This record gives sequence, C-alpha cells and structure tokens, in this order.
Amino acid sequence: MSFYDVCIIGSGPAGLVMALELAKYGHSVLLVESGKEQTDVEIQALSDAEISNPVSHSVMKDAVWRGLGGTSKLWGGRCVPFDDIDFESRDYVLGSGWPISDMDLSEYFQLASEYLSIKAPNFKVKECKGLKTQLNDLAENLKDSELIYSTNLERWSAAPSLWAKLKKQIPKIEKLTILDQHTCIGFFQNELGGNVSHAFLKPTLQPDAENVEVKASTFVIACGGIESTRLILNSMNEPNGLKLLGAKHVGLYYMGHLSGKIADIQFNGNPKKIIYGFERDGDVYVRRRITFSNQFLKSQKLLNIAFWLDNPPIFDWKHGSGVLSAAYLGLTMPVIRNFLAPTAIRKRVAGEKIENFSKHLLNCISSPIPTATFVIKFLWTRYISKPPIPGFFTYSKNNRYSLHFHGEQAPNLNSKITLSDEKDATGLRRARIDLQWSKQDVDSVIKAHSVLDNQLKSLGVGHLIYRFDITTLEQAVINQSIDGFHQLGTLRMTNDSSKGVTNSYGLLHGVANTFVASSAIFPTSGQANPTFLIVANAIRQARHISDNLRSSF
Ligand SMILES: Cc1cc2nc3c(=O)[nH]c(=O)nc-3n(C[C@H](O)[C@H](O)[C@H](O)COP(=O)(O)OP(=O)(O)OC[C@H]3O[C@@H](n4cnc5c(N)ncnc54)[C@H](O)[C@@H]3O)c2cc1C
Repeated sequence: MSFYDVCIIGSGPAGLVMALELAKYGHSVLLVESGKEQTDVEIQALSDAEISNPVSHSVMKDAVWRGLGGTSKLWGGRCVPFDDIDFESRDYVLGSGWPISDMDLSEYFQLASEYLSIKAPNFKVKECKGLKTQLNDLAENLKDSELIYSTNLERWSAAPSLWAKLKKQIPKIEKLTILDQHTCIGFFQNELGGNVSHAFLKPTLQPDAENVEVKASTFVIACGGIESTRLILNSMNEPNGLKLLGAKHVGLYYMGHLSGKIADIQFNGNPKKIIYGFERDGDVYVRRRITFSNQFLKSQKLLNIAFWLDNPPIFDWKHGSGVLSAAYLGLTMPVIRNFLAPTAIRKRVAGEKIENFSKHLLNCISSPIPTATFVIKFLWTRYISKPPIPGFFTYSKNNRYSLHFHGEQAPNLNSKITLSDEKDATGLRRARIDLQWSKQDVDSVIKAHSVLDNQLKSLGVGHLIYRFDITTLEQAVINQSIDGFHQLGTLRMTNDSSKGVTNSYGLLHGVANTFVASSAIFPTSGQANPTFLIVANAIRQARHISDNLRSSF
C-alpha cells in the first residue's frame, strides 16, 4: 500500500469532512472505514460494548452506526453552537476551561454549515432574514433579558446523512482514497514523543486475514467518542502501540447530556401568539431554545441547560387527541416504525412496545378528519417536500406544552470508559462504559427549572407545572436521562500534558503525528448537541495539519 500524507480512521462527520478538506488542500488522503454503505449486522456488532448502567446509557446499536458516513446515518440533524460559558473556566465545574475559545472556531462555522446543510451559522432569530414566522418573541412578554433568552435557535440539517449527500462528488476527488470494510486495530509507535509510523488494519469481515499496514505522515483517529477511546486504550496495551503522556486520563470524564421532561409550561396570554413548533428560515427548519445568560448561569452556579417546547406525552391515551394517538401508533407499529424515526428517538418518544392499542385507535376514530389531515400533511412534509420536517408538533389551545430539558453533564471521575475483558471479532477488547450522572448534574437540572419558573412568573409569562412530586424529581431526572448518542470528554484537550490527553488541536500528547477528531476531546459538554462543533473543529484541525505538512516539505 502506498504512502499517504494523511490517513484518517473513521468516515463519520469528523473523518469525512476532514478528509475532504485535506484533499482540497492538495494532500493525499486515505480514509479508512470499518463498515460499508449498507447496514451489516456483523460489522455493527463490532461496536457492541459492556454497559455498566443500562439506565443511563443506550445500547451501542442505537447510539452509533458503523458504516460510511458514520452515525450521520442515524442522527437527528440538529445543529447548535456551544456558548461562550462552555469554553470558560468555572470554579464550580471540575476540569472546566478549554484551551481554545469560540473565536478560534467561529471562522469555520460557515463551512461547517454548508457541509451539514444548515446553510448559514445563524443561530439567533435576529440573524435570520428568511424567518417565515417573522416573530421575535416565543411568547407574549417573553423578551430577551439579561437573564433569559428565547431567541436562540437550533438549525436542522436539510440533508442529515453526510454519505448520501457527498458520495457522488467523492469519486471525482483525485487525492482522496476511500478504503471501506477495513478496521483499524492498532498503531506502531517506537518511542514516546516519536511518530506513529504505521497503522494496522484488518479486512473487517475476514478476521483471519493478514493485517494490512498503512504508512502516512499524519494519522487522525476519527472513530466517534467511544470507539476512538477504545482504539487508543487497546493500542496503549501493545508493546509497540501508542505511548501517551496523558495515558492515565484516557477514558476518564465520559460525558453526555441529561435530557427529559419533568414539567409542563403553562403560558399566560394569547395561545395563538406562542411559537410552539418548527419555523422555517428559508430552506432550513429551526426551533427556539429557551436558555439562560452566561452571567446568570454563573451567578446561580448552574450548569448550562436549554429548554424547548414539546408535545404532551403521546403514549398516554388520556390526552384524547387523535393526532397524538396516530403518531403513537405509527411509532410503535412493527415495520412502519422503522421508517418513521431512528430507534433511539422512537424509544424515547413512544417507548419500547405498543400499549393501549384500542384506546389510541378510539382517539383516532373519534376525530377522523383532523387525524387523517395530520397524517397526510406529516407524511408529505417529512417524505416528499424538501427539506424534510424534523418532527411534528400539535398546537395547545390551553396554552400548555411539555417542557423538554437538555442539560450539561459536568466532568466527573466516576463516569468513564475502560476496556472489557471480552474481545470483538477483530481481537480488540470491547469498551466497558460507565456513564454516571453526579448529584451536581441532577441538582442543577432541578434548580434550573425552579429559576425558570420564577422568571416566567415575574415576567407574567406563565409558570411551570411539575409532573412529579418534589421528593421524586431527582429520580425522575435520572430515570429519563439516557445518553450514549453524545460522546464527550474521554480524550480531553489541555495545553498541559499532565492534565489531559490531546493538545488544543487534538494532537495526542506524546505522539508527534497523530490527532483525534471527535467530541471526545471536548473538555466540557455544554447544553449543545455536539456535531456542529465536531465538524467546525475538524475543519480547523485540517487547516492546521495542512499547514504542518506544508512547513515540513
Ligand atoms: C439517534 C441519534 C440522534 C442524534 N442526534 C443528534 C443531533 O440531532 N445533533 C447532534 O449534534 N448530534 C446528534 N447525534 C450525535 C451524532 O451522531 C454524533 O455526534 C456524530 O455522528 C459524531 O461524529 P463522528 O464522526 O465523531 O463519529 P461517528 O459518526 O460515530 O463516526 C465514526 C466512524 O468511525 C468508524 N469506525 C469506528 N471504529 C473504527 C475502526 N476501528 N476502524 C475504522 N473505522 C472505524 C465507524 O464505522 C463510523 O463510520 C445523534 C446520535 C444518534 C445516535
């Protein structure tokens, strides 16, 4: 196999975008992918892991997709930037403070937006010239203040599967070679501080075949948060494998997001003036998030958090709505459900299996025209018109909505990824995943609801109605918060090699030429879903690698 300028392992959003950028700069790139274009059960099983706490962590087959384009085949496509506070050091958050700031990343936001099909990094209502609703405030009297905002937006990808979007243009890129169905099983590094000279690959479906050795000037590990960590941990155990200065930190501080619903929001005022659903900014769907200002978060010692409005629980037939029951039946009906939403999202919204079928059916039959109109309109906007609508919303004439929270998990030493004793078909030890929410994480979510409630009341906007008794709120947050979809923190970046695993560009401390492109290098989790920043950072890393390669000629 020939020598490449850069060998990238993993073709998810991080690896694929970085490969395209480096090839664009004129470097020869080999992009190695374990899977292929179609789903393959045997290949997917390589990512299976030992999960210590199944209440907090999803099974891996719902959390990652092992194939070309990576987990962008499954993701929701929701793009959100991190906030200024996420980069800062906070005295009440262990290990907070990034070695880079938003300023280092923002120049790559436009390009990241184009790759992710959200058009532009316009994450505030006032930046969106094409906003169809043309309304500034989410609700009457809910003006942005020094404490609270309701004009920050998430933008939804119009073409979420990156491989489907880019695969036609890839064969035309001369400098880019894609090697699928090959799994990286390790690296050769002679001495601490030196280069990785080659990576070892195995033909994925032929575990008895000879290893393939790939040589390159620079290597990038872009296998997703968990799989990058596992590959590095495995290689560190080999005598000629990776030698890291930050070895003792690898796998620590595993983070995701706490997410769920413990309250409804009851608005005052005119129900028709509530923006309860998706809006369009030109060709891109957007949705409001209710957030707090950095100053307010700090003054309250709160972890970062965002809220958004949602439908009532669709599984509870007592809502009496034919529309919600039709959605529930669709999302739980065998076969049909697989076309409607990724398994993880479906399970979260509708549960594992169908319950109270006849009661839901009765709801649908009692309001046949609105139900049929909803089904036809939803199928049209989701599967025929472009861009696809990300989900559905029902209007509440009572002015009451479910309030979804998405909260930061602070780094904690009990939450970690280590290696299991069990091996996968390629001989790599599997990951043992222990995602643990701390008391601080859970308390912060509850306190954030309480301060939001106070704010809504003092502004005359409305109030919260809790779904649980105060004594059971903590357990309710824990029971609902299941992650594994957002995989952060286990290869944290720091300038000080005694405190983390990579430097500010994702270069492994102790290795001269091997980078990590993944949210695993993010030191804290913020309230944002991570993929937008993963991609912006991958573009930044590509520029840095390209500059290094040029200066070494
Ligand atoms: C259901 C679901 C919904 C989500 N929704 C959102 C959302 O709305 N917004 C958001 O920001 N994020 C979302 N995410 C998370 C998002 O998918 C990830 O953040 C993103 O895909 C990470 O990109 P990545 O390139 O780092 O890793 P991945 O996309 O996981 O790609 C890693 C690639 O590496 C390959 N690989 C792994 N090991 C090896 C190996 N040893 N050798 C060779 N190749 C290997 C894999 O096959 C895969 O192709 C969601 C995830 C899920 C599961």
